[in-house]
Amino acid sequence: MTDDDVVYVADGCDRYHESRECQGLSHARAVEERALSSLSDGFTLCELCSGTYQVGLSDGPFVTARLLEELDPDDIG
Ligand SMILES: [Zn+2]
Repeated sequence: MTDDDVVYVADGCDRYHESRECQGLSHARAVEERALSSLSDGFTLCELCSGTYQVGLSDGPFVTARLLEELDPDDIG
């Protein structure tokens, strides 16, 4: 990934997404397209996009449950 990658930021959030289709953006009122290099240091990569946390995969339920134990729900999206 380069500094010029386009990422997606939900309005009012300090989390960015690599995929516009990310579930973390599904409830966002507005989504801004930004250059990754333009984001301030306060921004963190979405855990869905980074692969740390995954939802809706066919091998999902117990994988998701395991990850949920490690993840604060407030941390998503
Ligand atoms: Zn995401």
